[in-house]
Amino acid sequence: MKKKVVFCDFDGTITVNDNIIAIIKHFNPEGWEQLAQKVISTELSIRSGVSALFALLPSSMEQEVIDFGVSNAVIRDGFRSFLQYCEANDIEFYVTSGGIDFFVYPVLKPFDIPKDHIYYNGSDFSGERIAITWPHPCDGQCSNDCGMCKTTIMRRFPAEDYTRIVIGDSVTDFEGAKLADVIFSRSHLTTKCKELGLSHTEYETFHDIIAALEKERMEQA
Ligand SMILES: [Mg+2]
Ligand SMILES: [Zn+2]
Repeated sequence: MKKKVVFCDFDGTITVNDNIIAIIKHFNPEGWEQLAQKVISTELSIRSGVSALFALLPSSMEQEVIDFGVSNAVIRDGFRSFLQYCEANDIEFYVTSGGIDFFVYPVLKPFDIPKDHIYYNGSDFSGERIAITWPHPCDGQCSNDCGMCKTTIMRRFPAEDYTRIVIGDSVTDFEGAKLADVIFSRSHLTTKCKELGLSHTEYETFHDIIAALEKERMEQA
Protein backbone atom coordinates (compact mmCIF):
# COMPACT_ATOMS: atom_id res chain seq x y z
CA MET A 1 0.00 0.00 0.00
CA LYS A 2 1.52 3.29 -1.09
CA LYS A 3 1.65 6.20 1.28
CA LYS A 4 -0.37 9.26 0.33
CA VAL A 5 1.36 12.61 0.13
CA VAL A 6 -0.40 15.92 -0.50
CA PHE A 7 1.26 18.86 -2.26
CA CYS A 8 -1.04 21.77 -1.58
CA ASP A 9 -0.81 25.13 -3.30
CA PHE A 10 -1.28 28.26 -1.18
CA ASP A 11 -2.50 31.24 -3.24
CA GLY A 12 -6.05 30.70 -4.45
CA THR A 13 -6.07 27.22 -2.87
CA ILE A 14 -5.50 27.44 0.89
CA THR A 15 -6.54 31.07 0.56
CA VAL A 16 -9.68 32.10 -1.29
CA ASN A 17 -7.87 34.55 -3.57
CA ASP A 18 -4.51 34.70 -5.25
CA ASN A 19 -2.48 36.92 -2.93
CA ILE A 20 0.17 37.92 -5.45
CA ILE A 21 -2.49 39.16 -7.84
CA ALA A 22 -4.42 40.81 -4.99
CA ILE A 23 -1.33 42.69 -3.77
CA ILE A 24 -0.34 43.90 -7.22
CA LYS A 25 -3.92 44.79 -8.09
CA HIS A 26 -4.32 46.75 -4.85
CA PHE A 27 -1.23 48.89 -5.42
CA ASN A 28 -1.97 48.93 -9.14
CA PRO A 29 1.42 49.84 -10.64
CA GLU A 30 1.34 50.59 -14.34
CA GLY A 31 1.78 47.55 -16.59
CA TRP A 32 0.92 44.81 -14.11
CA GLU A 33 -2.08 43.43 -15.99
CA GLN A 34 -0.16 42.55 -19.15
CA LEU A 35 2.54 40.86 -17.04
CA ALA A 36 0.02 38.83 -15.04
CA GLN A 37 -1.74 37.74 -18.22
CA LYS A 38 1.55 36.58 -19.74
CA VAL A 39 2.27 34.46 -16.66
CA ILE A 40 -1.17 32.83 -16.72
CA SER A 41 -0.86 32.11 -20.44
CA THR A 42 2.65 30.70 -19.70
CA GLU A 43 4.15 33.10 -22.27
CA LEU A 44 6.36 34.33 -19.43
CA SER A 45 7.86 31.94 -16.87
CA ILE A 46 6.46 32.19 -13.35
CA ARG A 47 9.85 33.18 -11.96
CA SER A 48 10.46 36.00 -14.40
CA GLY A 49 6.82 37.13 -14.27
CA VAL A 50 6.60 37.29 -10.49
CA SER A 51 9.99 39.01 -10.32
CA ALA A 52 8.82 41.59 -12.83
CA LEU A 53 5.52 42.16 -11.02
CA PHE A 54 7.15 42.88 -7.65
CA ALA A 55 9.86 44.98 -9.29
CA LEU A 56 7.03 47.38 -10.19
CA LEU A 57 6.82 48.25 -6.47
CA PRO A 58 9.42 50.29 -4.55
CA SER A 59 10.96 48.69 -1.44
CA SER A 60 9.87 51.75 0.53
CA MET A 61 6.37 50.25 0.43
CA GLU A 62 7.55 47.18 2.40
CA GLN A 63 5.27 47.59 5.41
CA GLU A 64 2.18 48.46 3.40
CA VAL A 65 2.74 45.53 1.06
CA ILE A 66 3.27 43.08 3.93
CA ASP A 67 0.28 44.38 5.89
CA PHE A 68 -1.98 44.19 2.89
CA GLY A 69 -0.74 40.70 1.93
CA VAL A 70 -1.38 39.29 5.39
CA SER A 71 -4.67 41.05 6.15
CA ASN A 72 -6.16 40.37 2.74
CA ALA A 73 -5.74 36.60 2.92
CA VAL A 74 -8.89 34.59 3.72
CA ILE A 75 -8.55 30.87 4.43
CA ARG A 76 -10.70 28.53 2.34
CA ASP A 77 -13.36 26.61 4.23
CA GLY A 78 -12.38 23.29 5.71
CA PHE A 79 -8.62 23.81 5.70
CA ARG A 80 -8.17 23.04 9.38
CA SER A 81 -10.39 19.97 9.10
CA PHE A 82 -8.35 18.83 6.13
CA LEU A 83 -5.12 19.07 8.12
CA GLN A 84 -6.73 17.00 10.86
CA TYR A 85 -7.97 14.50 8.26
CA CYS A 86 -4.43 14.11 6.87
CA GLU A 87 -3.02 13.64 10.35
CA ALA A 88 -5.65 11.05 11.30
CA ASN A 89 -5.17 9.10 8.04
CA ASP A 90 -1.39 9.16 7.94
CA ILE A 91 -1.31 11.35 4.83
CA GLU A 92 1.83 13.47 4.55
CA PHE A 93 1.01 17.13 4.00
CA TYR A 94 3.19 19.75 2.32
CA VAL A 95 2.44 23.30 1.31
CA THR A 96 4.11 23.92 -2.04
CA SER A 97 3.54 27.58 -2.71
CA GLY A 98 4.57 29.91 -5.48
CA GLY A 99 3.83 32.68 -2.97
CA ILE A 100 6.20 34.83 -0.97
CA ASP A 101 7.51 34.40 2.59
CA PHE A 102 6.13 37.66 3.97
CA PHE A 103 2.52 36.61 3.54
CA VAL A 104 2.61 32.78 3.28
CA TYR A 105 4.26 32.11 6.62
CA PRO A 106 2.27 34.57 8.79
CA VAL A 107 -1.03 33.41 7.30
CA LEU A 108 -0.19 29.73 7.96
CA LYS A 109 1.22 30.28 11.44
CA PRO A 110 -2.02 29.49 13.34
CA PHE A 111 -2.16 26.04 11.74
CA ASP A 112 1.07 24.67 13.28
CA ILE A 113 2.34 23.09 10.09
CA PRO A 114 6.03 22.14 10.57
CA LYS A 115 8.17 24.77 8.86
CA ASP A 116 10.03 22.16 6.82
CA HIS A 117 6.69 21.16 5.31
CA ILE A 118 6.13 24.61 3.81
CA TYR A 119 7.91 25.67 0.61
CA TYR A 120 7.71 29.23 -0.70
CA ASN A 121 9.80 32.01 -2.21
CA GLY A 122 11.73 34.71 -0.38
CA SER A 123 11.79 38.51 -0.60
CA ASP A 124 14.40 41.21 -0.37
CA PHE A 125 13.47 44.80 0.41
CA SER A 126 17.06 46.09 0.57
CA GLY A 127 17.22 47.41 -3.00
CA GLU A 128 15.25 50.21 -4.59
CA ARG A 129 12.53 47.83 -5.81
CA ILE A 130 11.05 44.73 -4.20
CA ALA A 131 13.05 41.67 -5.23
CA ILE A 132 11.86 38.08 -4.96
CA THR A 133 14.38 35.38 -4.07
CA TRP A 134 14.15 31.76 -5.16
CA PRO A 135 15.50 29.25 -2.64
CA HIS A 136 13.78 26.24 -4.30
CA PRO A 137 14.66 26.37 -8.01
CA CYS A 138 14.01 23.77 -10.71
CA ASP A 139 16.22 20.69 -10.68
CA GLY A 140 17.84 19.31 -13.84
CA GLN A 141 14.59 17.59 -14.79
CA CYS A 142 12.46 20.74 -14.99
CA SER A 143 13.02 23.44 -17.58
CA ASN A 144 9.90 25.41 -16.73
CA ASP A 145 11.68 28.18 -14.74
CA CYS A 146 9.10 27.77 -11.96
CA GLY A 147 10.71 29.87 -9.26
CA MET A 148 9.50 27.56 -6.49
CA CYS A 149 9.63 24.26 -8.37
CA LYS A 150 6.81 21.97 -7.27
CA THR A 151 7.92 19.06 -9.45
CA THR A 152 11.43 19.18 -7.96
CA ILE A 153 9.87 18.65 -4.53
CA MET A 154 7.46 16.00 -5.80
CA ARG A 155 10.31 13.99 -7.31
CA ARG A 156 11.67 13.46 -3.78
CA PHE A 157 8.60 11.25 -3.24
CA PRO A 158 8.99 8.43 -5.79
CA ALA A 159 5.87 7.20 -7.55
CA GLU A 160 6.73 3.61 -6.53
CA ASP A 161 6.28 4.48 -2.87
CA TYR A 162 3.78 7.32 -2.89
CA THR A 163 0.39 8.30 -4.23
CA ARG A 164 1.09 11.93 -5.06
CA ILE A 165 -1.87 14.24 -4.64
CA VAL A 166 -1.81 17.80 -6.00
CA ILE A 167 -4.30 20.42 -4.82
CA GLY A 168 -4.23 23.66 -6.76
CA ASP A 169 -5.90 26.33 -8.80
CA SER A 170 -3.64 27.93 -11.34
CA VAL A 171 -0.46 28.26 -13.36
CA THR A 172 1.94 27.31 -10.54
CA ASP A 173 0.20 23.90 -10.41
CA PHE A 174 0.30 22.99 -14.10
CA GLU A 175 3.62 21.10 -14.04
CA GLY A 176 2.95 19.34 -10.74
CA ALA A 177 -0.45 18.21 -12.01
CA LYS A 178 1.21 16.45 -14.95
CA LEU A 179 3.26 14.41 -12.47
CA ALA A 180 0.50 13.77 -9.92
CA ASP A 181 -1.50 10.58 -9.40
CA VAL A 182 -4.50 12.51 -8.09
CA ILE A 183 -5.48 16.11 -8.88
CA PHE A 184 -7.90 18.35 -7.03
CA SER A 185 -8.50 21.43 -9.13
CA ARG A 186 -10.34 24.65 -9.45
CA SER A 187 -10.17 27.68 -11.77
CA HIS A 188 -7.31 27.78 -14.33
CA LEU A 189 -6.06 24.38 -13.21
CA THR A 190 -9.40 22.77 -14.10
CA THR A 191 -9.22 24.34 -17.57
CA LYS A 192 -5.67 23.05 -17.98
CA CYS A 193 -6.59 19.52 -16.85
CA LYS A 194 -9.42 19.44 -19.38
CA GLU A 195 -7.10 20.70 -22.11
CA LEU A 196 -4.51 18.01 -21.30
CA GLY A 197 -7.07 15.29 -20.63
CA LEU A 198 -5.87 14.78 -17.06
CA SER A 199 -8.33 13.17 -14.70
CA HIS A 200 -9.18 15.61 -11.91
CA THR A 201 -11.71 16.29 -9.19
CA GLU A 202 -13.03 19.82 -8.84
CA TYR A 203 -13.33 21.30 -5.36
CA GLU A 204 -14.68 24.46 -3.85
CA THR A 205 -13.79 23.81 -0.20
CA PHE A 206 -11.45 21.44 1.62
CA HIS A 207 -14.56 19.59 2.83
CA ASP A 208 -15.07 18.53 -0.81
CA ILE A 209 -11.54 17.10 -0.85
CA ILE A 210 -12.04 15.24 2.44
CA ALA A 211 -15.28 13.77 1.08
CA ALA A 212 -13.59 12.61 -2.14
CA LEU A 213 -10.63 11.03 -0.32
CA GLU A 214 -12.94 9.40 2.20
CA LYS A 215 -15.15 7.98 -0.55
CA GLU A 216 -12.08 6.47 -2.22
CA ARG A 217 -10.84 5.07 1.08
CA MET A 218 -14.20 3.38 1.73
CA GLU A 219 -14.21 1.91 -1.76
CA GLN A 220 -10.75 0.45 -1.25
CA ALA A 221 -11.58 -1.00 2.17
MG1 LIG B 1 -2.49 29.17 -6.69
ZN1 LIG C 1 10.39 23.70 -12.21
